[in-house]
Amino acid sequence: MPAIKRIAIIGLALESNRFAPPTTAQDFFQSCYLEGADILTEAQKDAPAMPQEVPAFIDEINRLGEWQPVPVIVTATSPGGPADQMFFARFLSQTLECLRGARGLSGVYICSHGAMTATGDHDPDGTLYLEVRALLGPDVPIVATIDLHANISETMVENADAIIPYRTNPHIDQAPCAREGAQLLWRLMDSGEKLDSACVRLPIVAPTISLLTNDGGIFAQLVENSKAAQTKDVPAVCVAGGFAFSDTSYNGITISAFGDSSKAKRIVHDLAQWTWANRTGFKKELTSVERAIELATSEGPNVLLGDMGDNPGGGGRGNTTEILEALLAAGVKKVLFGLFIDADLAQQCHEQGEGAEFEAVFNRQCDDVNANRLSLSIKVLKLSDGLVEGRRGLYAGRTVKLGASAAIRVNGIHMVVISYRTQCADPGFFEHFGFDIASYKAVVVKSRGHFRAGFDEFFTDGQIYEVDADGLTTPVFSRLKFKNLPRPVYPMDEDTEWHGAGWGKMHNL
Ligand SMILES: [Zn+2]
Repeated sequence: MPAIKRIAIIGLALESNRFAPPTTAQDFFQSCYLEGADILTEAQKDAPAMPQEVPAFIDEINRLGEWQPVPVIVTATSPGGPADQMFFARFLSQTLECLRGARGLSGVYICSHGAMTATGDHDPDGTLYLEVRALLGPDVPIVATIDLHANISETMVENADAIIPYRTNPHIDQAPCAREGAQLLWRLMDSGEKLDSACVRLPIVAPTISLLTNDGGIFAQLVENSKAAQTKDVPAVCVAGGFAFSDTSYNGITISAFGDSSKAKRIVHDLAQWTWANRTGFKKELTSVERAIELATSEGPNVLLGDMGDNPGGGGRGNTTEILEALLAAGVKKVLFGLFIDADLAQQCHEQGEGAEFEAVFNRQCDDVNANRLSLSIKVLKLSDGLVEGRRGLYAGRTVKLGASAAIRVNGIHMVVISYRTQCADPGFFEHFGFDIASYKAVVVKSRGHFRAGFDEFFTDGQIYEVDADGLTTPVFSRLKFKNLPRPVYPMDEDTEWHGAGWGKMHNL
């Protein structure tokens, strides 16, 4: 009778924007920090407050056979600046200590974002994979899942047996991704086979808005082709679009394949060549703020305006005022606006109470160049503790903590103000205050693209506009002062060249 499989579960997820303030231990503790058996307890809840991959992974392994979970640490928080190094170091040492004490491990699942940096480590994801591998040796399979915006490093590819990415953007396939990872890990534990890897990093640092998978564009086709290329011999083909704002030396679109050496190499080569040949697809136009105001006041159909420069889902603070000020200046009515992140303002609304009207200060404690301090007359319409169960897309089935929150009215604008940084990707964030989204001429969301999977009930693609407001997540990279990003890269540098080099467990790709 075969020994029962003992599988370690580790989660570390942060998307790091180097231009944003560091992400603190408190940020992780506040969002999701679970140790040991608490991981399993949380995963069993109806709407677990943890990355969706973890419950799906556990469920799939349950389906596959008998096993013994070794839950280690699962932590995740909203995108922000590089993680505090002390926090990461403590996480890592506790993780390794736990693994050291867990004898006879059969396999490891790592749920990571893949675009994390720390204040003292450019590649904490890679460091985690490397240290786990160093501790457990080559024979214990390690399978990781990653966000489609991961920046894949050499260290990650060389220390994982396979890396499985999301294949949707907006991200709606966290669970299938984790199930695929579970199945592959199970296969590797059963068979003892070792997968080779091949990887190419293209000198393409794509604007975030060109990485959608539901628009039939170049990236959508690449992801589709990568999935179609998977076979029994090459069970994992991983396309990662990258996250430019991490500003690492290994930024760029990567294509990796795990499996039979020569077949993996061929797949990576072909996909990379095709991508390079079609690279003009990564250029995209934005809508100016002036045009957005016209749309919000026109006779035409209702519109959804995405604030590209201030996406908390990419490290933005959710408090820039460029679009808000333009709307106020134009005296626009019937606009719904959210989520504006200002804990002081939300707190003040709670102190004043529902129905109160007063002169409120926006961005009282912020001196960011794009987040102006505004003094505005507001009315508090409704208050909330900010615990919302996600309804659609990214947050579906997950409890989201917005912190003390308030629905307010500012002239003709209805706004939701919250305390904890969250991108406005779910209609539930408005609806739980009783707002009827369909009744507004314009809805402004601080989100780059995930709002599409939440608000597609109300707006067709033709009613959605990506607005060029400035901020920490602007897709206009020339406005940011990158330090580590490799140059030249396309499309920032039109004359970028690529000569087909790659790497992996077998070399000379
Ligand atoms: Zn992502």
